[in-house]
Amino acid sequence: MPHASQHVQQLNPYAIALCATARWIASRHWVPATGGNFSIRDGEHNALVTASGKDKGELSPHDLLPVSWAEGPLECPGTPSAETALHARLYQLDPAIKAVLHTHSVQSTVFSRIIQADHYTFTGYEMQKAIRGQQSHQQDCPIAIFDNTQDIPALADLVQQQWPQVRSASALLVRGHGLYVWGQSLEEAKRHLEGWEFLIHCELERIRLTGDL
Ligand SMILES: [Zn+2]
Repeated sequence: MPHASQHVQQLNPYAIALCATARWIASRHWVPATGGNFSIRDGEHNALVTASGKDKGELSPHDLLPVSWAEGPLECPGTPSAETALHARLYQLDPAIKAVLHTHSVQSTVFSRIIQADHYTFTGYEMQKAIRGQQSHQQDCPIAIFDNTQDIPALADLVQQQWPQVRSASALLVRGHGLYVWGQSLEEAKRHLEGWEFLIHCELERIRLTGDL
């Protein structure tokens, strides 16, 4: 017999949709070696988050853990991904956020290392319109870049401090580590992920070909 909470998750359509998205992300090679983590909101103070160390290409609803921040500290019956505290902070910063996707792609890892500044502004790309609020390729499309750390609560505090500058991208980069995106639905988060991965890949290619940072 499955554990009662697992049984509920198994029937949760959001959990099934998140697992399908995880398999699609894994097929793009954006979460190698069990890296990355994904979550979906499951209430005002709750989310389902990927368990630590799972192959994202073989994710099932059993591999999603319920986390709650209703009492302040994170509560979870198992071992969620190490970066769960940042997922939870994003849900708290914006009640409209319904899903958070975090990838370790080659392009976001390399791009975030060659850019020294704490943000980078994209402009001139039609793909910018994949990002909420972007109307034109001529608009500035900035993304924040945070230094990597193993202290995820400290990173979450930094993100919170800079939230007014961070939020418009629906994404952020962690240097030498990867990309976080979020959306007001799982579908929007997936669009933001594909859009940002495309933009970052394009800019990396442009820098490689022109040598122009
Ligand atoms: Zn990560």
